[in-house]
Amino acid sequence: MNLHIHTPLLRSNSLSKATGKKIYFKIEALQPSGSFKDRGIGTLCQYYALKQKTGFVCASGGNAGMAVAYASNALQIPATIVLPHTTPAPVIKKLQQANANVIINGKNWNQANSFALTLSKEKSLCYIPPFDHPLIWEGHATIVKEIQKDEVHPDAIILSVGGGGLYSGIVQGLQALKWNTTTIITSETVGAASFHESLKAHKRIQLPSINTIAVTLGAKQICQNAFDMAQRHPTISQTVSDAQAVKACFEFLEERRILVEPACGAALAVAYENRAVLQPFKTIVIIVCGGSGVSFDLLQQWARETSLP
Ligand SMILES: *Cc1c(COP(=O)(O)O)cnc(C)c1O
Repeated sequence: MNLHIHTPLLRSNSLSKATGKKIYFKIEALQPSGSFKDRGIGTLCQYYALKQKTGFVCASGGNAGMAVAYASNALQIPATIVLPHTTPAPVIKKLQQANANVIINGKNWNQANSFALTLSKEKSLCYIPPFDHPLIWEGHATIVKEIQKDEVHPDAIILSVGGGGLYSGIVQGLQALKWNTTTIITSETVGAASFHESLKAHKRIQLPSINTIAVTLGAKQICQNAFDMAQRHPTISQTVSDAQAVKACFEFLEERRILVEPACGAALAVAYENRAVLQPFKTIVIIVCGGSGVSFDLLQQWARETSLP
């Protein structure tokens, strides 16, 4: 049983026409919990279910938390989500509606996460990290297998980077198929560019702070595995502005009538806003990673904040 679905791989007529290339969307926004995270987190939760574990704990009010809640329902294993006091009420409500047991603890994410780790020890719950686990990467790698099944062999894949779990999974999937020349073009917003800055510095750096509308990309440090893989796999790292990420969300909404987070808009912006980097490639897949932290009102508010017309 899979906790994720085989998502559609759809040709983008507008982008293909504008660039003279074959450009496809891999629409992960259609996963049950709203993002690709169902693949990796579903794989990890299923592994624990087979080991007869009796509960999950996670410290995410974002798409990782939603994926844990979804897996918990599907596997009939309770999920506890620990969130800091700063969490907006709608986020808490959404997780509770997904049957998660929400505990508010800590002033910020670090404190909530420490409490989640404490709970996992005291109550022997399985701690589910958002991106840094080999089984999470294995789950995300299924994206590449599906692309192959759909008979597309891209020479470039565009994806967003937060902590580097998606990137790790895609590299793993490419290596499994020996698609070693498929270049990965990564995208981050400027205020959350921990991957970009690490590659530039030739070491894994920690950002002093996160400053972006694309909060889902807000990992101060990428995982070691993503950094190590980027030393071996052809990778081009890009950054986009918040305004470009939000604009790309509107362009994608117009083209496919699907709402996605600015975290996903960041990847779309590489094709909609910044075409120069695509020049050497012929067949390009954009991972439309999705995200459920978005509404039409929020998108319009972000557009005003980033001063779009
Ligand atoms: C988690 C997530 C990301 C970032 O993924 P990482 O594995 O942390 O790099 C990007 N976009 C969306 C919508 C996400 O949910």
